[in-house]
Amino acid sequence: MKRIPVAQPTLGENEKKYVMDCMETTWISSVGKYISLFEEQFAAFCQVKHAIACNNGTTALHLALVALGVGPGDEVIIPTVTYIATANCVKYCHATPVLVDVEPGTMNIDPACIEAKITSKTKGIIPVHLYGHAADMDAINAIAKKHNLFVLEDAAEAHGATVGNKRVGALGTCATFSFFGNKILTTGEGGMVTTNDDELAQKLRLFRGQGMDPNRRYWFPVIGYNYRMTNIQAAIGLGQMERVETALLRRKEMAHWYDEALACLTDHIELPCQAHWAGHVYWMYNIFLKGATETRRDWIMSQLDQHGIETRPVFYPLHCMPPYFEERTYAVADSWACRGINLPSHEGLSREDIQRIAKTLQDALLVIHDPAIPMKGDCSTAIAKAA
Ligand SMILES: *Cc1c(COP(=O)(O)O)cnc(C)c1O
Repeated sequence: MKRIPVAQPTLGENEKKYVMDCMETTWISSVGKYISLFEEQFAAFCQVKHAIACNNGTTALHLALVALGVGPGDEVIIPTVTYIATANCVKYCHATPVLVDVEPGTMNIDPACIEAKITSKTKGIIPVHLYGHAADMDAINAIAKKHNLFVLEDAAEAHGATVGNKRVGALGTCATFSFFGNKILTTGEGGMVTTNDDELAQKLRLFRGQGMDPNRRYWFPVIGYNYRMTNIQAAIGLGQMERVETALLRRKEMAHWYDEALACLTDHIELPCQAHWAGHVYWMYNIFLKGATETRRDWIMSQLDQHGIETRPVFYPLHCMPPYFEERTYAVADSWACRGINLPSHEGLSREDIQRIAKTLQDALLVIHDPAIPMKGDCSTAIAKAA
């Protein structure tokens, strides 16, 4: 039986060709034509003026915060449900991440909970476009404008996601992306910062390259970092950009197949939701078990694993983890995160793979299925098997 991974990259022929070109020309370090080509294509994709490539999504976040001037004593508002890097980068600047609860369904930062967390020390907000669904940027930008805060989109999981007819990456002061191997676009390891602000772009380039004055070699007016991307990474990135629209279409199709295959299980699980203003790109297709505990969720995941289907739990809220622990509860984050499962989500999945995942999930869900709850749809074979 074929094992289905939770994620896997899709690489085309051009990625290979461009990498070989780097090898043959010996331009393998962080100088070379692919870096600017990749940056230009990515900026055009996001319809934004500047794209600054760096070596991963975590350094992209750190670089953005440094360029935005975040330092000791500052506070930055972030959702309590996100990948750990969002919070860690605030700490790298010796500032304090201030946690905010999330919305049901998307688990994106809840704009209605932000203002209560703003103090005189607040410098900005980092909305995260979690799992491929954009955060409510209109509401967040309105709050930021009122309080004079920056908005840094953490778009690591949402290349191509939209709010209305605009893509993420151009919706705040600046945005960051990741090109890790499991993301929608990959360069192995890699990251990008995008912005429409010329002055900020200049600072981002300065801090990325050790802080060296672009007009005076070995003259360093500031303390910078080596967060540069290599020409090899960018060569892969350029190849990925040439097939990005296909990648987005394939993921939409994957989500459609899941919606179809799981429709008969909606008494037991919640399927991903999409705000009327949002274009979801499904970095991860998530389901949430209705009324289940974390133990039950983990058991369902182990059943899928035994049948060759790899899954991941939805991120644990930050306020539950040692470095960011808080005694209090965050109602939505606490009730949703422990019930969420990332199902396999990548371009390599066939419709048959997804039907197999749905069938296995259904069998696992039926183990303590309450016969008082009738099953909807074409689930007769699974019910017969369970009986
Ligand atoms: C993946 C990810 C990052 C970090 O990106 P890396 O390239 O792995 O360093 C940051 N934020 C979020 C929300 C992510 O999912």
